[in-house]
Amino acid sequence: MAEFDVDLFVIGGGSGGVRAARIAANYGAKVMVAEEYRMGGTCVIRGCVPKKLFVIGSHVHQEIEDAAGFGWSIGQVSFDWATLVANKDKEIARLEGAYTSNVEKSGARIVKTRAVLEDAHTLRLATGEKVTAKYILIATGGAPNHGPHVPGIEHVISSNEAFHLKELPKRIVIQGGGYIALEFAGIFAGYGSDVTVVYRGDNILRGFDEDVRKHVRAEMEKRGITIITGCTVAKVDKHGKDFTTHLSSGSSIASDQVMFAVGRHPNVKGLGLEAAGVAINPANGGIQVDGWSKTSVDNIYAVGDVTHRTNLTPVAIREGHAFADTVFGKRPVQVDHATIPTAVFSQPEVGTVGLTEEEARAQFSHVDIYKTDFRPIKATMSGRDTRVLMKLVVDGSSDRVLGCHIVGDCAAEITQAVAIAVKMRATKADFDATVALHPTASEELVTMRTPTARHVRQAAE
Ligand code: NDP
Repeated sequence: MAEFDVDLFVIGGGSGGVRAARIAANYGAKVMVAEEYRMGGTCVIRGCVPKKLFVIGSHVHQEIEDAAGFGWSIGQVSFDWATLVANKDKEIARLEGAYTSNVEKSGARIVKTRAVLEDAHTLRLATGEKVTAKYILIATGGAPNHGPHVPGIEHVISSNEAFHLKELPKRIVIQGGGYIALEFAGIFAGYGSDVTVVYRGDNILRGFDEDVRKHVRAEMEKRGITIITGCTVAKVDKHGKDFTTHLSSGSSIASDQVMFAVGRHPNVKGLGLEAAGVAINPANGGIQVDGWSKTSVDNIYAVGDVTHRTNLTPVAIREGHAFADTVFGKRPVQVDHATIPTAVFSQPEVGTVGLTEEEARAQFSHVDIYKTDFRPIKATMSGRDTRVLMKLVVDGSSDRVLGCHIVGDCAAEITQAVAIAVKMRATKADFDATVALHPTASEELVTMRTPTARHVRQAAE
């Protein structure tokens, strides 16, 4: 009789867990996956995918406005929020089905229940069943933070609820200046809501390149989004269907919804981590792992947002795949967490890969900046007041392109391709040797001949 019921037990049917389960099963492992909610996890069910669908739909508003300059006369248009939500739900259900059948096709078994660790090899399912496993993978993801307790916090929604609102709010206040806050600000504004973003710092998107931060803010403001910085939400009052959001600055805003997007935390509670001896990383509250995604317990691994490393779906997928290759495929693989491209699907979009100017100047003695800020061709006829930002950060000593930052239409698509060059350590000369593709916005990346700034750090005396 086998020593354990299964070779691998995966807790969590999101992107990381599903990839690990499928690859391990392909290697011949007997695999069980527990998911207490819906297969697909944050990205598919209440994150990247429904968000992108909402972004695509909300952009139509701008397309309609821009059409007039190209000769179109579009009559009365109307938008139905309920149709959008219903069609999005249909697509998400389809994807959930695809995730489920792909796991099952690989030979892994899904149990739709919560699983809790009893010890390093034993799981207790909510159904009462006990399962023993040679290896365990924790891939339970993360969840929205509620932020600091403020009176009236119970009236505040997170991105989870934003996907299922019964009606489009005419006015919404969103606290936060990161990915989710800005993406939903663009979504709601696109569908016609009056949007106010409240951010505690001096400018949104902390950690991004300073030029990007300024550019996105200016462009969002041009599109009618109000961005209030240097203050926080102190209290939320509800009267009937309306809300009053009181700010730390003393002013207040009336709205139909209040949303917080103030970060996410790893789902580590109630998993039995202590019983199994799995340590938490005190620096970030996620499960502590090494470069192989191994926890403090030899047979227990963790991938994705629950480790609170780089909280992005493709990273979780890489980590899950690398774990399965390493443990079941006898092919040790470590995930390289450097130079990961990322995009904020705000409107306009932000795409970024590599170092910001600030990071480069802290790490390199010679940094050249190539920056351009231009009116995109479409705006010449649509008449829209908008500008695109493209910026390359280059190591002045080796000529290597250290970072690329774009704000404008298709920034994410462009950045994915540029990321290959940056990852390959391409030089500015390689960019220059590439013939422009005309007329595009991204041709600017290979036609910026002269640095707009050169930073040389003086040697310490
Ligand atoms: P972010 O970390 O991006 O942003 C959180 C924001 O909330 C920051 O502006 C932060 O301010 C602010 N904040 C944090 N705590 C408080 C507080 N106590 N009071 C007021 N404001 C506060 O988190 P998100 O929730 O937007 O997204 C979570 C993560 O999910 C992202 O970091 C990203 O990894 C991932 N994600 C990726 C997406 C993509 O790839 N397109 C889309 C959505 C999410 P400050 O900067 O001052 O700390």
